[in-house]
Amino acid sequence: MKHLLLILLTCVPVLHAADGKLVVTWLNMPEHGLAVVVQTPSGGTWMIDTGHVSDKYDAGRDTIAPFLKARGITALDGIAISHPHGDHYGGAQWLLDHLPVKTFVDTGYAARGLSLPYTRLRQHAQERGAKYIAATEGDTLDFGPGLIVEVLSPPKAMHNTATDPAKITEHGLLNTNSLFLRLQHGGNVFFFPGDAYGSGQRYVLEKTPSEKLKAAVVTAPHHGFNTHIEFAQATRPKFAIASCLPFYQGSEVPSPGDKVKGQFEPLGTRVLVTAWNGDIEVTSDGKDVTAKAEKQP
Ligand SMILES: [Zn+2]
Repeated sequence: MKHLLLILLTCVPVLHAADGKLVVTWLNMPEHGLAVVVQTPSGGTWMIDTGHVSDKYDAGRDTIAPFLKARGITALDGIAISHPHGDHYGGAQWLLDHLPVKTFVDTGYAARGLSLPYTRLRQHAQERGAKYIAATEGDTLDFGPGLIVEVLSPPKAMHNTATDPAKITEHGLLNTNSLFLRLQHGGNVFFFPGDAYGSGQRYVLEKTPSEKLKAAVVTAPHHGFNTHIEFAQATRPKFAIASCLPFYQGSEVPSPGDKVKGQFEPLGTRVLVTAWNGDIEVTSDGKDVTAKAEKQP
């Protein structure tokens, strides 16, 4: 009986990706935002951005936590926030209050447009016991064995902070200074540019050798609203993923899904959009990448 129990226990399927594979999931959310779950080859879990929070919705409570629970994940190795906008850090407070979180990463941005709620969140993460890391160009993040995570932007001095305020909005300043990550698993490269505008993308294109720009998977910058075509051409990924809504109420701007398709599909890239495909999961074995979506439109 004891032996049988032991066999049963050892045969229980592991719900996380501790089998040397990297599993990355872009979560579909009812409110505009970005939240990516990175399940590392060594069995750890990182969040890159945490979606939106409003009166009736909290991405941490309503989308991310149920997803983590379904996968048997009870702690986070880290939360990396690309930039201090509510559609990227909205769910972080709830996660910090309900799960052990080892590390909290952002760019350390401390200039125009930084809000009090975000400053408090940064402080709160440390009060909850997370190690705080301000990461900028040239730094690497420790996502565990098998992964190399490099920060390509912003530079330590930040982009455009000295620019005349009339020429760049606070909103643009924060977007352009997004944490721009290059994650490598074996031969597969993933890019997470946050909401970096064209100038942030151009900076990375200029500073990064072309062989390091070739990618397996790209998150479309700024939800797909602002992908610089040269960034699409330089990365030429197998998959491009956009996290956006199917439509934007009261806005003249259509969902960027079609725009992303127009930019990436001529390069042979398969485009997946959370608005149409639901949750999007990409698995890397270090050689190949495969994608699976909740829905096929
Ligand atoms: Zn955003």
